[in-house]
Parts: sequence; structure tokens; C-alpha cells
Amino acid sequence: MSDNKTTPSNFIRQIVKDDLASGKHSRIQTRFPPEPNGYLHLGHAKSIVLNFGLAQEFDGRCNLRFDDTNPGKEDVEFVESIQNDVKWLGYHWDQLFFASDYFEQLYGYAEELIGKGLAYVCELNAEQTREYRGTLTEPGKPSPYRDRSVDENLDLFRRMRAGEFPDGSKVLRAKIDMASPNLNMRDPVLYRIRHGVVHHQTGAEWCLYPMYDYTHPISDALEGITHSLCTLEFEDHRPLYDWVLDNITIPCHPRQIEFLRLNIEYTVLSKRKLTQLVDEGHVSGWDDPRMPTIAGMRRRGYSPAAMRDFCTRVGITKSDSVVEMSLLESVVREDLDATAPRRMAVLNPLKVVIENYPEGHIETLQGPNHPKHDDMGSRPLKLTREIFIDRDDFRLEANKKYKRLVLGGEVRLRNAYVIRADEVVRDDSGEIVELRCSYDPDTLGVNPEGRKVRGVIHWVSASEGIAAEVRLYDRLFTDAAPDGHKGEDFLSYLNPESLVALPHAVVEPALADAVAGERFQFEREGYFTLDVTAGSADKPVFNRVVTLRDSWSKSA
Ligand code: ATP
Ligand code: MG
Repeated sequence: MSDNKTTPSNFIRQIVKDDLASGKHSRIQTRFPPEPNGYLHLGHAKSIVLNFGLAQEFDGRCNLRFDDTNPGKEDVEFVESIQNDVKWLGYHWDQLFFASDYFEQLYGYAEELIGKGLAYVCELNAEQTREYRGTLTEPGKPSPYRDRSVDENLDLFRRMRAGEFPDGSKVLRAKIDMASPNLNMRDPVLYRIRHGVVHHQTGAEWCLYPMYDYTHPISDALEGITHSLCTLEFEDHRPLYDWVLDNITIPCHPRQIEFLRLNIEYTVLSKRKLTQLVDEGHVSGWDDPRMPTIAGMRRRGYSPAAMRDFCTRVGITKSDSVVEMSLLESVVREDLDATAPRRMAVLNPLKVVIENYPEGHIETLQGPNHPKHDDMGSRPLKLTREIFIDRDDFRLEANKKYKRLVLGGEVRLRNAYVIRADEVVRDDSGEIVELRCSYDPDTLGVNPEGRKVRGVIHWVSASEGIAAEVRLYDRLFTDAAPDGHKGEDFLSYLNPESLVALPHAVVEPALADAVAGERFQFEREGYFTLDVTAGSADKPVFNRVVTLRDSWSKSA
């Protein structure tokens, strides 16, 4: 990968550079720590590009670690999809871990904290615990169980592990400071009891599960992480991260550094909300091409290079910002403009009969694969007497600005001859169902002398073309911040026109060889990819990756 050339500097990169220069670290070690409770989205991609990208750039290492301390919501389906997505983005982890690999060690450290008088078993219920915690303006009250003896705490904690107590009856809490201005430091819960759940990695071995804030620093330290990068919501948790590591016997103390979460207009980046879209059937699945998931964007036709590029360009700042959808699209478009072979596809076909063209004749013409890259070669095009053009490319009459076909006017068929529209055929309802044209055989590659040709339109042979379905995607929501309205359900902003299926499209014969995931420019229409799941060899489905020009910033 050569993305590094364009990596803009950011404060985290600077910290890493300084730490290497000062000799604080001789090699950096990062990690990407997803919880396997959903598919990865574009926000995760930003974290992946940051963590793996830094390791790559500075010759360090990056682990993939599943933060799997919430059995019940987690699943191996997600464990697998996450690995898939990270690989697809072009990264290789140094080592693969599960936080559950550390359950025994985490338990041991909890006993150490208890032994030092720094953790206790508390029997307040959830509501009482909240009440005792106090508020931002009022200090908390100490739990009546706070001063239990070390022996009693150890005994109770061991019996919690042994399964003697029901869910919710007891928790293990750190003994820190009930008056701390930081609510996270008011004796946070370290362990809770969960019976009857089968953990996807540890099965029924445990009924005692560590909390995220306790698990995370220790997992990082056990892996020798040098820079533990997380999103800004965890800034207030950093004192707890440090407290845990300062109070147990562990040789490593990673530095937690926070960066801004990625937010994008017209979509939601939250696994909970994405899960709701899937579960309630608002989309066809996690890989629906409208989803901001990596799986959805892959199916939509975004390339890994474009996604990495986008994640690098959005930068790693601390200041609040919402990234415009048009930035993502322009990165994708730039990538495709340079690399996608050109093809012709007629999305809303209108039949054209070229009356002076010999019946039954098939003429093979050549169409360059790319206007700027001769090295990409050309593909054969089949011209026949009956062809399709797009309904939008014909009008009975129009002013000069209309650079397409009008009755009596001339237009060039892309990579072929100039045709003239002579007559329309209508059905009983008056709709135009066919166009009778004539062609000028002397116009292959040369313009007719003394006659005005309005423009160039695309076409596909009626007998040689392939029937296809084309799917056009628009933003999934009609509001730039669908989840940003208090008291309003984000689902009420779903865009009913986010998917428009055109089931009667016709594409040129060369597209018979397209393989799933291959990307093309359908000339004058946009960039498209062959869908990996829908469609068949007889009737392929093409997804629109992105339009040819930016249609977002203006229409927004
Ligand atoms: P969600 O709220 O969507 O569930 P999460 O933060 O709970 O996201 P995790 O699986 O816990 O999801 O996250 C794995 C990593 O990805 C974390 O380090 C997290 O900080 C990072 N991450 C998640 N969402 C974003 C985002 N929108 N922008 C940048 N990084 C993110
Ligand atoms: Mg999470």
C-alpha cells in the first residue's frame, strides 16, 4: 500500500514520532478492539486505518482484539465478519486476541485489588447504586458495603465466581473516591454476575463477567500496547484506565489517547441503530448497499483504497465535525474515474430501428475502455439494426441546449455512426414505444460535412445486449443528522426513495464477462458494479456506486 505518501500529519502521529525519537519506545504496538456485536461501519474503518496505518508507517505492530465481555449480544457471525472486513480493507493483524482469553488473568488482578483493599463486593441494587453515586453537582455517598474486610470480600468474590449468587445480587466495585468530580471514579463496577448466557468463546465456564473499563486497560497492558487509541467519549474514563494499571502488578502502562469519532451526514454510525435497521427490515441486511457498514460499502462497489483514502483525509482531530457525504463520494469517484473501464448501459430503454441498416447484420466496432488510458485497450461493440437508447435521450422537440436526439435531428451513437430520428411509433395510449431512424454510413469516426450533430448518446444492440436490473441508491436518510433530533425517532427520517430499481435495463454484451465486485463507468450514467448476491447470469444486477458528478452538495 502506498497510502502513506498522502498521510496528513495529526497529533497522534506526532506523539508516536516523539516517543520513537526519545527512545520511550523502540517499536510501537497498537490494537483495534471491536466488540463483536455487529458489523463494522465506516467509523470503525477510521479507527482501523489509524491503528493499522500507524503500525505500518512506523514499522510497528497492530493486534486485532475482540472486546467480548458482553455475552448475549455478541456472536461468532460478527467475529467472522469483522475479520473479513479488516482483511478486505487491506490490513493484517500481528496477533488475534479475545478479551475473554484474559478472563483468568483479569480475575487474578481483581483478587489483587481486593487484597490491597482497593475493591469490595457491593450488594446495592442498580437503582440504589445510581442513587448513591450522586450527580455532577453533588458528591456520592459511600456504599454501606464499602468497608468490608479483605477476607470477607475475597470469600464473597470467590463465591460469586463459583455461582452461589443470582444475577444482580452482588457486584465487585473499585474503591476509589465517592466525591470525585469525575463520576467514573466513584467506585465503578468491575465485575457483574451473568448466569445462563453462553459466551461465544468461553461457553458456560464463567458466570462472572468483567466490565469494559476494567478489561480494556489490562488487555492493552498484557499485549504490550504502547498507544491505546480510542474515541473522545473515553476521555473521562482515562483516569480509571490509569488507576487500574497503577494499582495492579503489571509491567506495562499503555498511554490512552482519544480522537474524534467519525460522524457522517445523512447516515447513522452506531451499531445499535444499524442493528435496528437490519432487524426491523428497513434494509435488506448488514450488507445492504445503502448501509454505512464496510460490508455494505463493499457490496455497493467502494474500493478498499478509496475507503482508506477517505479515512486518512477526514483526519484525526479532537474538534467536533461532521463529515459531508460528498467528501466520501468524491474520493470514491476520483478512484473510479481513473480505474474503471467504460461500458454502455441503457437504463430506461427506448427501441430504435435504423431503417436503412441491413437486417440481420451484426457489425463489430471497437470502444476504448478508457478515454485517457490507451493501455486499457478496447472492447468489441455490436451494432445491429435494432438498438436501445435511453428514453431521456429523445424528445420530439427541444431547444439548442438539448444535446441529444430530437425528431428530425442528428446525434452520434457513441463509438459508432450518426443517426437521424425520422418518425415515432406510438401505442394505443399514445406513448412513444419506438423510434424510426436512419444512419449515415460515412460517419464512423468523422462528422458529416455541413450538418450539425447535437451530441453523443450511448446505446446497446437490442439482440446482442443483455437484460439487466440496475439499482440506483440515494442517501438512506432525508435529514443530515437523522439521530440528532431530540425526541424524534431517527427512523422517521428514512428516505423512501433510497433505492430505485430499474428492472428493464439493457447492458452491452462485454458485460457478460463482468465478475462480482468489478467496477465500471456506464457512460453518461455513473459508476456501477456487479452485485455479488442478487441477480443471475441471465439477468445480472448492477449497483450504482456513485453518480458521475456531485449531486449531494447542491441538492442538500
Ligand atoms: P458503536 O457505538 O457503533 O457500537 P463502538 O465504539 O461501541 O461503536 P466498538 O466495537 O466498541 O464500537 O469499537 C471498536 C473501535 O472502533 C473502538 O476503538 C472505537 O473507539 C472505534 N470506533 C467506533 N465507532 C467509531 C467512529 N464513529 N469513529 C471512529 N472510531 C470509532
Ligand atoms: Mg461499544
